[in-house]
Amino acid sequence: MILPKSNRLTPEQLTEVTEIVTEFGCKIQPIIGAVRTIYAIVGDEREELMINRLEGLPYVERIDRIQSPFKLMDKRSDLATHRITIGGATLGEELFVIAGACTIDPKNPNYFYETAQAVKEAGAHMLRGGVWKPRTNPYTFQGDVKSLDILMEASRRTGLPVDTEVMEEGHIKVALDAGVTCLQIGARNALNYSLLRAIGRAIAERDTVVLLKRGIHMGPINEFISAGEYIAAFGNPNIILCPRGTAPSLDGYRNHPDESITPLLKEKTWAPVVVDPSHSVGKASYVPACALAAVAYGADGLCIESHVSPSHGIGDDPKQALTPDVLAETITQAKQLWALRRGVKIG
Ligand code: PEP
Ligand code: MN
Repeated sequence: MILPKSNRLTPEQLTEVTEIVTEFGCKIQPIIGAVRTIYAIVGDEREELMINRLEGLPYVERIDRIQSPFKLMDKRSDLATHRITIGGATLGEELFVIAGACTIDPKNPNYFYETAQAVKEAGAHMLRGGVWKPRTNPYTFQGDVKSLDILMEASRRTGLPVDTEVMEEGHIKVALDAGVTCLQIGARNALNYSLLRAIGRAIAERDTVVLLKRGIHMGPINEFISAGEYIAAFGNPNIILCPRGTAPSLDGYRNHPDESITPLLKEKTWAPVVVDPSHSVGKASYVPACALAAVAYGADGLCIESHVSPSHGIGDDPKQALTPDVLAETITQAKQLWALRRGVKIG
């Protein structure tokens, strides 16, 4: 990793470093932060001669040699000071809440518009709504691109930024062109490296954020963080890690709740952790406790399914969506706990 003395390299300096690393079979990947740009050396960067030549350049502050499987996502990386701001809220400075329906029903858009308004009033910072849906059963509703218009209309009405899952490469451009702020990678695609690369490439020059769910069958924690590295490697470090429960399930729950991995993630990576208690436990009555547990474990935020009338919802909503009153209470308590944990006085 090349850290320049100034906020970024000039085009001439970039050409010079590119020529040096190319000689050694490597490439340069700029990682554009809000203030500073740093430059990852992609390839085998251990070559001493290359490092010496780069270190000798007058405009290079230092070369970081982090030997980590995820050198950008690593807590020791220069990106550790990177902050993700969405719609005016900065993760890490306040508890960040994403809420909304599992699935937008294209036939009954008013439920989503009402849900959007309700989650805003409950204190959510970002609205979620499924357009394309990964469903276990191929005969159930698979989502509908028409729902994207409903999602964006709800965003206009409430002023909330939106998050939606993209399941395949073709969805990425459609979602970005519509104005989606946060692309969600679902638990089934968390290890789909070609999709991760496609997203990384597509958002490289944008403010877009990625909410990366933990894979249902993911093993070691490094596997999760490395999935984020696939995206970061293209230059946009706006990556949020989202534990959402794993298989096999804990008897009675939908999955095995995994909010407890939050401190482990935080030891290894600077990336914010937003826990999804809804898919973790899978039943509305268990969601508030799981949400609070996540905050107690140090989560930076929550992603909660909510619907004004869960029994009229589709997808997961009838089972696991919180009604707006329960959502509001959960958010209030979670914010208090978040503040308590950080010793911040609640104003
Ligand atoms: C969802 O967010 O509705 C969803 C399908 O999530 P996951 O990928 O975690 O199952
Ligand atoms: Mn869902």
